[in-house]
Formats: sequence, C-alpha cells, structure tokens
Amino acid sequence: MTSIEYVGFRILRLLRKLPINILGIGNRKVIFADFFKDFDKVEAVKGIFGEKTSEVLRHLTVELSWIFGYMYVDGSDGHLVISKNYLNNGDKTEIYLDLIHELCHVKQFMEGKELFDPRYDYVDRPTEIEAYRYCVQEAKRLGLSDERIRCYLWTEWMSENDFKKLAKSVGVSTS
Ligand SMILES: [Zn+2]
Repeated sequence: MTSIEYVGFRILRLLRKLPINILGIGNRKVIFADFFKDFDKVEAVKGIFGEKTSEVLRHLTVELSWIFGYMYVDGSDGHLVISKNYLNNGDKTEIYLDLIHELCHVKQFMEGKELFDPRYDYVDRPTEIEAYRYCVQEAKRLGLSDERIRCYLWTEWMSENDFKKLAKSVGVSTS
C-alpha cells in the first residue's frame, strides 16, 4: 500500500460511519459526535481541543444544509454548517481536512475571536492562516504531496496571487 492509499484507507475508515445517503436527510441539525464517529480519537482533533475534545464534539451542532459550497462555521453561534452535496460527493481526504480546518475555527470562536474580521482579506486573515496551517500540517503528516496540498488549497474564487500568498503563509511550495 502506498502512503496515499493508506491515507485514503484511514480516512475512509473514519468517514464510513456516515449515513449512506446524506442527501436523503432533511435539512436538519445533528450533533457532531453522533454524526462523525470517533473524531474524538483523532490526534489532530485532540491537538485542537485537548482534554475538552469529547465534550466540545458532544456539544457542537452540525447543520446539514443545501448550501452551495463546502462548509463553514456560523459566526453567530459557532455551529458548523456543511453542504450535504459536498459531504456526499466530495473527495473524502478534502472533507477530512476541511473538518480539521473548521474545528480550528470552532476553537477560535470559543476563544472569542472574530472569524470573519472584515479588516483582512481572506488569505491574510489570522484566523484563516492559523486554520490552514494546522490542516496543512495534518495533510503533510498523512503523507500528501505538496502538489496534492496545492490542489486542496486552491479554490475557484481565489486569484492566482491570493493562492500563492496563502500557500506561502502555510509553508507549501508553489513551484
Ligand atoms: Zn477557514
């Protein structure tokens, strides 16, 4: 098994406990710990919340939504909103890394940080850089190549310059 196959295997094992067809679930809220089983045992998650990991995941609400896109933390009460379509059809490794990224935002929210501080552009926002750094560190630990991580970091609404800036901030080469 190559390291990438191994990563896929580990993440699939983690996400296989999701309901088979998420699209069939009505627009509703679930508890993170009930929906994403065993995330309290993931080192990267424990690295965020420490000994409060289980408690935080048991109290974290996840809204499964028809939103277009991926996932985000709602700035009003800190709950996680996830696109059902993305959860059902997205790349499992990217979903996993996004969850790690968003859990960083959950922690920041708990600490009273402003998640969507308008004084900063997206790629300059300290809360984003911190969350990206942490999930990139996890991606590297899992053995993803810089090229694979670049694919992950790039989003359709990001300019070439912003993308390069972000990659540099989080320690991923752009050449
Ligand atoms: Zn973010």
